[in-house]
Amino acid sequence: MPEPGPTIFAAGLVLPVSAPAIREGAVLVRDGRIAAVGGLEDLGQQNADAELRYYPHYTIVPGAVNTHAHLGFRRGDAPEGGSFSKWLAVLIERLPEKEKWTAEAARASAREAIEAGTTFVAESSPYGECLPQLAGSGLAGTVYAEFFPHEFGTPEEAVEFIIEKVRGSREGLPERVDVQVSVHSPYTVDPETSRLAARRTRELGWRLAIHLSESPEEVEFVREGTGGLADIFGRNDWGGVGVSPVKYAEQIELLAPETIAAHLATGVSEEDVEILARTGVAAAHCPRSNDLLNCGVSPVPLMMERGVRVGMGTDGLWSSPSMNLFEETLFALELHRFDGATGLRLATLEGARALGVEVETGSLEAGKWADLAVVAVDPGDQDPEREVIEAAAGGAVTVTVVGGDVVYDSATQAAG
Ligand SMILES: [Zn+2]
Repeated sequence: MPEPGPTIFAAGLVLPVSAPAIREGAVLVRDGRIAAVGGLEDLGQQNADAELRYYPHYTIVPGAVNTHAHLGFRRGDAPEGGSFSKWLAVLIERLPEKEKWTAEAARASAREAIEAGTTFVAESSPYGECLPQLAGSGLAGTVYAEFFPHEFGTPEEAVEFIIEKVRGSREGLPERVDVQVSVHSPYTVDPETSRLAARRTRELGWRLAIHLSESPEEVEFVREGTGGLADIFGRNDWGGVGVSPVKYAEQIELLAPETIAAHLATGVSEEDVEILARTGVAAAHCPRSNDLLNCGVSPVPLMMERGVRVGMGTDGLWSSPSMNLFEETLFALELHRFDGATGLRLATLEGARALGVEVETGSLEAGKWADLAVVAVDPGDQDPEREVIEAAAGGAVTVTVVGGDVVYDSATQAAG
């Protein structure tokens, strides 16, 4: 097959995020990467050979980066919200039945994300079970493989198993799909295994995902060793260490620049934020999940002020109403009273920074992969970013491009 020639994606407004807005802007794409960003007139004249896809009354933004998702859940039959430990107990009870539909749910979740303008997803699933669906979706992203030490004899066995599993899973993947390790949470992975996994993955230069300081029950488990999570995981008796989950995670060496910690919602003190800033760990903010499961409000403004990298995450469809990251971001805008520009950065470039992939994606800049979304909105000058987020949250994404490939086009979708 001949290599496709250059393409220009142009729109009434282009928001590169890392540079000022461009009216009648254009993105020149060559071999999947952004070759130039500028005015349509100039880029068009200089590249007369390029195929032009022009959306006059639309806006082009970088594709959304989802820093924390679980693809293997579906809409419609989620356990009841309101209490994290009760929700989790029902989830665990339903795991055997869930096996039958996890793959189908993962395909549908990935598709929903793409159709909402997402181009990069950090996904966490048991032993990386949703990797085939992420890899087959057209998305770029990372699957973080969770493992559960009680299924093994020793911490060494558990950690070696997951490392070998991840190594094996990496073979034959699309160029932009990757697999890494997740240490699921302070209440499911014991301190010795957590520390060993953190050390081994760091030695290998790998990345790590964790859930941290999510619920009031987790805070109680770590501090006191009691509560709803202690009841569910009776055999997990290492809690009750008298410190916050963040402090505990630092003690067991989980916090580092390669780590992304999801939630940080309940029980994160100012001292904890200092620890997050000092260790360089990044945060995935999932405010709708936190709201649904009564997990409080993450101190995101303080974290950002102290230089903690923060991205947005939808979590999965059993704890969140959608896989639409712009909808998640709109919720965060209301919650923290952020302006649109801050929101669009969180949904794109800051998410890429949190995951350590900002060299590759997250903004419209020459050299990065051409990951972008075309949104059916023609905003004014007041707060254009907010108008774009509101539109994209409401389903106005019409084209999604990952690495220069059009992976979603609502026009052909309707025709087909
Ligand atoms: Zn999660």
